[in-house]
Amino acid sequence: MSSYTVIIIGSGFGGQCAAINLHKQGIDDYLILERREFMGGTWAQNTYPGAAVDVQSPLYSIESEPYNWSQMFAEQNELREYTNYVIDKHGLRDKTRTSANVSKIQWRDDENQWLVEINDGEILTAQFIVNASGPLSTPVIPDFKGRDTFKGKSFHTNNWDQSYDYKGKRVAIIGSGASAAQVIPAIAPDVDHLHVFQRTPHWVMPRPDYVFKNWQRKLLSNKFIYRMLREAIYWGLETRVIGFKYSDFMLELLAGRKARRHIKNQIKDPQLQKKVTPDFTIGCKRVILSDTLYPAFCRDNVTLHDKTDGISEINEQGIKTESGEQLDLDLIIYSTGYDATDGVISYPVIGQQGKTLADVWADYPRAYLGTSAPGFPNLFIVTGPNTGIGHTSAIFIIEAQMNYIMRAIKEVRQRGKQRIEVKPQAEASYTGHIHDEMAKTVWQTGGCNSWYKSKSGKVIAMFPGFSFTFRRWTKNFREKDHDFV
Ligand SMILES: Cc1cc2nc3c(=O)[nH]c(=O)nc-3n(C[C@H](O)[C@H](O)[C@H](O)COP(=O)(O)OP(=O)(O)OC[C@H]3O[C@@H](n4cnc5c(N)ncnc54)[C@H](O)[C@@H]3O)c2cc1C
Repeated sequence: MSSYTVIIIGSGFGGQCAAINLHKQGIDDYLILERREFMGGTWAQNTYPGAAVDVQSPLYSIESEPYNWSQMFAEQNELREYTNYVIDKHGLRDKTRTSANVSKIQWRDDENQWLVEINDGEILTAQFIVNASGPLSTPVIPDFKGRDTFKGKSFHTNNWDQSYDYKGKRVAIIGSGASAAQVIPAIAPDVDHLHVFQRTPHWVMPRPDYVFKNWQRKLLSNKFIYRMLREAIYWGLETRVIGFKYSDFMLELLAGRKARRHIKNQIKDPQLQKKVTPDFTIGCKRVILSDTLYPAFCRDNVTLHDKTDGISEINEQGIKTESGEQLDLDLIIYSTGYDATDGVISYPVIGQQGKTLADVWADYPRAYLGTSAPGFPNLFIVTGPNTGIGHTSAIFIIEAQMNYIMRAIKEVRQRGKQRIEVKPQAEASYTGHIHDEMAKTVWQTGGCNSWYKSKSGKVIAMFPGFSFTFRRWTKNFREKDHDFV
C-alpha cells in the first residue's frame, strides 16, 4: 500500500495550487489523483463551442504564474494551454495518477491517516488530504420524462462530443445559464434550427472583451505592468460587492440599468424582450456577460421557449412541449448545470467515529473558512462551502485557501504532532457569522432560486463579502480554533 504525506484529489487549478505550494514548503511527498484520463480540470474538460472565462484573464490566473494572454477573456483553448503550461512548468505530470477516481476516503484514528480508495478497489494512505475535486465538476441531467427514449444524439455541455457534427442539424438546448449562453450564439449560425428551453432568464451585461495588440502583449510581458493590470481589474471587480451586499441603489445604478438597456439595445421585439427579462434582482444569480446571446435569440432559426412553454416530455423523435407541439430533433444538448450545492464532494468522506461528511452536512454544507470540518482531521476542502464568488476570480479564493491549508500542515509538522482538527465551536461560530452576513446579500434576498442555495434554503455556495476579507482571514491563522494531537 503506497503511503504519502499528502494526497491531492483533482488536478484543476485547485490541485495545481496545492501542489505548487506544498513544493514551496519543501513537501514533495505528495500525489495528485485525477479521475479523468487527462489533467487540468474545468478548462480541459469543457470543450463546448464558445467556452470562455467570464473573469478577465490577467486576474483569472494563478498569481505567481502570469501569462501572455491574447485577449482579456481567454477562450477555452488558451485556458487549457495555460493550465498545461502550469502543469509542465512545475513538473506536475510526474506527480499525478490519471484515471484514478477516488471512490471513498476514510479516516483511521489509530494511525492518524486517511485511507484513500481509488477505482473501487486499490487503497492508498495519506496523512493529509487536499480535496480539490471542483465546485462545478460533476454534471447533472434532470430526470425529464422519457429522457432515455430519445433516439438522436444527446450530451451535457461538460461532455461535448467533438466527433459529432451539429452543422445543419435540428438542435435543442436545455438550460439558460452561463454555459448555454456561450453555446447558443456559437452554434446558432450553423444549425438548421435551435430550440432553447429556458426555465428562468438570467440578467446579461455587455462583455468588455478586448484582443490585445502585439505591442500591448509585449508591454504585459513586463511583470510589473501585468501586475498593475491585474490589480486594476481586481479592485474594479471588488466594487461589485458593494451592490451585492450593501446597496440596492448601487446595484441598480451599476448593473440593473445597464442590463435593462442591453436588452432594449439588442432586442426590438417586445415579446422577446419580456421573455428574457428576469423577475429577480440582478446579481441574485450569476450575471452573464455576452454581446452575442440576445442577437442569437433574434435569429429566424432560433426559438426561445420560456417556462410557459417548457418540456412536457422527451420522446424517441425529440421533445414535446407543454403547448403540445412536437419538435423533431437530431441533437439535445443538456446545459443543466452541476451537482454544486448539497454534494460539493464527489465521493463519500468518512471521518472520526464513522461519521460521514454527508451526514454532518445533512442540514447544509458548512466548514471553517470553507475548508475544514470538526471530526475530519487533516482534511482540507478547496472551494468548499461558502467559498464561491460571483464577482471575481475563483482562483483568487483558491489561492487564499492555500494560506490556511499550508499553515495548518506546517503547524502540525513543526509541533511534531500528527493531526490538526478545527474545534466544533470555532466552526459553528464561523458558520453562524457567514450566514448572518449572508442575510444582507442579494443572493439571499434577491428573489431567485439559484444553485447558490442548498436544499435548506441557505446560500452555501457564496462567500458573503469582499474577497480580500476572506484572504485576510485565511492569512490570520488562529491557533486557538484548532486542536493538535
Ligand atoms: C464551464 C465553466 C466555466 C467557468 N467559468 C468560470 C469563470 O469564468 N470564472 C471563475 O472564477 N470560475 C469559473 N468556473 C468555476 C471553475 O470551476 C473554477 O474557476 C476553477 O476552475 C475550479 O478549479 P478546481 O481545481 O477547484 O476544480 P476543477 O477545475 O473542476 O477540477 C477538479 C478536478 O477534480 C477531478 N475530480 C473530481 N472528482 C474526483 C474524484 N472523485 N477522483 C479524482 N478526481 C476527481 C475532476 O475530474 C477535475 O479534473 C467555471 C466552471 C465551469 C464548469
